[in-house]
Amino acid sequence: MRQPPCAAKTGGKAGGKHEQSTALDILTPAGRSARMARVRQKNTKPEVRLRRWLHALGYRFRLHRKDLPGTPDIVLPKYRVALFVHGCFWHGHDCRAGRLPSTNTAFWEAKISANRSRDAAAVDCLRSQGWTPLVVWECDLRDRQGLEARLVGEIAGAASPD
Ligand SMILES: [Zn+2]
Repeated sequence: MRQPPCAAKTGGKAGGKHEQSTALDILTPAGRSARMARVRQKNTKPEVRLRRWLHALGYRFRLHRKDLPGTPDIVLPKYRVALFVHGCFWHGHDCRAGRLPSTNTAFWEAKISANRSRDAAAVDCLRSQGWTPLVVWECDLRDRQGLEARLVGEIAGAASPD
């Protein structure tokens, strides 16, 4: 297996305020679908909701740290936790919403599997830099209590180095 390079991607301006809007980078001929296929969308609804919950639980965080591998959606510096909120479809979750469409299946499979390898690489890189990466799936948000309990546990576990 090829080991992907473990380098934090710096997209120019590190830190600073998060981007104004979802700047459409390049509109390929595939147009609309390419646009919809953007994975690293920011401030998605699930993300915003999770932020609100974490805030209510008393956590303080930073958003979209571009200097960290994979640009985690939410970062809890105090615990060195980097959190990703993944859309079930785009990141190929093993749930109903993560199922591949029956048309253009090969296309979606390639796309989603590329996303998954990117996710895995980011997780590895974060770990190697002493971060605890956590993934929250969109469908996890359906059970607020369950998710909160899980995250509180995982964050507490991350805080105590072994
Ligand atoms: Zn899911």
